[in-house]
Amino acid sequence: MGGQRAYDVAVIGAGVFGAWTAWHLARRKQRVLLVDAYGPANARASSGGESRIMRMGYGADELYTRWAQRSLVQWKELFAATKQPLFLETGVLWLTGDDDARLRQTSATLKRWGLFEPNSGVLMARRGVATVVEDAVRLGAEYRCAQAINPREAGRVEHISTRNGERIAARQFVFACGPWLGKVFPDVLGSRIFPSRQEVFFFGIPGGDARFAPPALPTWLFQEDEVYGMPDIESRGLKMAFDRHGERVDPDTQSRIVSPAMAEAARKYVARRFPALRDAPIVETRVCQYENTSNGDFLIDRHPEMENVWFAGGGSGHGYKHGPAAGEYVAGQLLDGAPAEPRFSLDTKATTQNRAVF
Ligand SMILES: Cc1cc2nc3c(=O)[nH]c(=O)nc-3n(C[C@H](O)[C@H](O)[C@H](O)COP(=O)(O)OP(=O)(O)OC[C@H]3O[C@@H](n4cnc5c(N)ncnc54)[C@H](O)[C@@H]3O)c2cc1C
Repeated sequence: MGGQRAYDVAVIGAGVFGAWTAWHLARRKQRVLLVDAYGPANARASSGGESRIMRMGYGADELYTRWAQRSLVQWKELFAATKQPLFLETGVLWLTGDDDARLRQTSATLKRWGLFEPNSGVLMARRGVATVVEDAVRLGAEYRCAQAINPREAGRVEHISTRNGERIAARQFVFACGPWLGKVFPDVLGSRIFPSRQEVFFFGIPGGDARFAPPALPTWLFQEDEVYGMPDIESRGLKMAFDRHGERVDPDTQSRIVSPAMAEAARKYVARRFPALRDAPIVETRVCQYENTSNGDFLIDRHPEMENVWFAGGGSGHGYKHGPAAGEYVAGQLLDGAPAEPRFSLDTKATTQNRAVF
């Protein structure tokens, strides 16, 4: 059945990592097949939902600051070329608490890189990924809805199979399966990827009140409270979420309905920090999952036993913005044998969590 053609690269998973990987490979004239079980940035995916923060600040961590800088350029170029205004320069405000060590480090790092956070803002998530996939197809990639079955053989993988009986033959395979990576490779990644339940709330703003929309209100992060939020974008209301890791979940089956306890905590928080929204109704909710590695560093490395199989994921709740740089990095690994960033290696991924990247 089908799949007679051998591709240069098959990318499994059309979230932000897989979509940008396919895009960079297609731009470099590779024959690329991109598949996704449920669709690009689908409702279960970590890249789903309306919006994501695009920020440069990472404490003292220059790697992700550099990647965010590089990625924002590419996001903007893509949105300009495709005439999709999916980056909103709301600015990003870091709020300071009693312990502001990370804020001071962020400020020092940003100064070294000559960047000012007013140029940061919000990426429209689901539509951003759909745009990347459409543009990858324009560049020559093929996209197909298919669920890959876990490859098992060691050594060189000639083809993989899909749930509906197709075979996909390729020279290289990139598994960009986000929170599913542990399910696809249970032996190697089952204990190294920690998908955590994350609940997101949108509070309705008072009628006729422009104080909660950009430019009056920027995107904001308050790390001491472990909370972030966004202004009223596209009239969805004020967005807020806790950045603490929730319980371990299965991305296929977890309930997408918020818990009463989290809704109550969100209400209390908004009443405390935004008194004018004390009685505001929750007008929308989302339940997603982070796909955490042990410390928050990405996982982009070769399978330890399958020589032409790669992992690309471990976005750990901060990966969306970095999609362009991640895709470019994967293409460099596959096509140029570019130097590998040690922090992305499988070897550095432990089986107990100790979050270090925020
Ligand atoms: C609530 C929330 C808030 C966040 N906030 C931010 C933020 O503000 N800024 C930021 O930069 N990042 C943020 N992130 C993190 C960011 O969204 C993720 O790191 C990123 O989207 C992960 O992308 P991915 O491509 O690795 O995974 P996914 O988007 O989950 O993509 C994986 C894809 O693989 C597919 N798949 C899985 N198994 C198979 C299979 N066997 N066959 C075929 N397809 C398969 C799935 O259907 C899915 O589409 C947030 C995440 C969440 C959940």
